[in-house]
Amino acid sequence: MSSKLRRLLSVNVNQILKRKYHKNEFVRVVEVGPRDGLQNEPTNVPTEVKIEFINKLSETGLETVEVTSFVSSKWVPQMGDNSEVYTGIKKKGNINYPVLVPNAQGLEAAVKCGVKEIAVFTSASEGFSKKNTNCSIQESLRRIEAVVREAKKHNLRVRGYVSCIVGCPYDGAVHPSSVTKVTEALLNLGCYEVSLGDTIGVGTKQAIQNVLKDILDVATADKLAIHCHDTYGQALPNICTALEYGVRVVDSSVAGLGGCPYAKGATGNVATEDLVYMLHGMGMETGVDLRMLIEAGRYICGHIKKQPASKVNNALYSKYGLE
Ligand SMILES: [Zn+2]
Repeated sequence: MSSKLRRLLSVNVNQILKRKYHKNEFVRVVEVGPRDGLQNEPTNVPTEVKIEFINKLSETGLETVEVTSFVSSKWVPQMGDNSEVYTGIKKKGNINYPVLVPNAQGLEAAVKCGVKEIAVFTSASEGFSKKNTNCSIQESLRRIEAVVREAKKHNLRVRGYVSCIVGCPYDGAVHPSSVTKVTEALLNLGCYEVSLGDTIGVGTKQAIQNVLKDILDVATADKLAIHCHDTYGQALPNICTALEYGVRVVDSSVAGLGGCPYAKGATGNVATEDLVYMLHGMGMETGVDLRMLIEAGRYICGHIKKQPASKVNNALYSKYGLE
């Protein structure tokens, strides 16, 4: 056999999976700051400030802004004003405003507010599921099934979240096959997209690769989103890895809002400003105006008395003359 033919025959499967990104490709940025971010901030933000914050985000060109969570205010007091926030914001026709819904009661309250899209969540690790939702993964999927069935009656779009795709604060390392199993289950239940969350931000390039290679056996990349926390400063490289595997939807939080209840002093989600700066630098399109994003980040940080956890925000703020 000629060496050329041998080379052709030994094409690595990973190379087939690994799709390079191209110039001008569109990446949909899902802003989760008002929910994932603020629910993990110690300062309780007044309702009218949240509304103004979301209205500012709506002007930046973002297509998806997660507004709030319809969980019991007993568990998450920061989101206790969910109905007021959702009904108070100015909604733009081209923007999706999903809300997090944990159960039937949450769905009922969300429907009453006229919500059009919900997000449901489960975990790839049993320990996290038990602590976070007080039930096993299997039980949480049954709960989600009931929520999705009801949501579809109201023609709602349903997005799925899988937490702890790499590591869990209780169980340690998470096997990629556990992530694949719950992702497949969520898609089968009717989620249009599943967001893969490195909830505690322990993932590195290799770990994200392992998860995606496993999932891409059962799902196509267009059904997936990546959700990275920046606890160990790995969020951007991890997102790049997901882009290489064809993922084109990325969750992020303006000003890097949020934190991690399992790592004291840790930063939250990857900052939207940093993500958008990186994507534009790679020649990809987001439709997002970085300058307006920086302003929105500054606005909310002024109210929680915190410097933005975004290098891009801090570097460009004065350069843009926003001081
Ligand atoms: Zn998160």
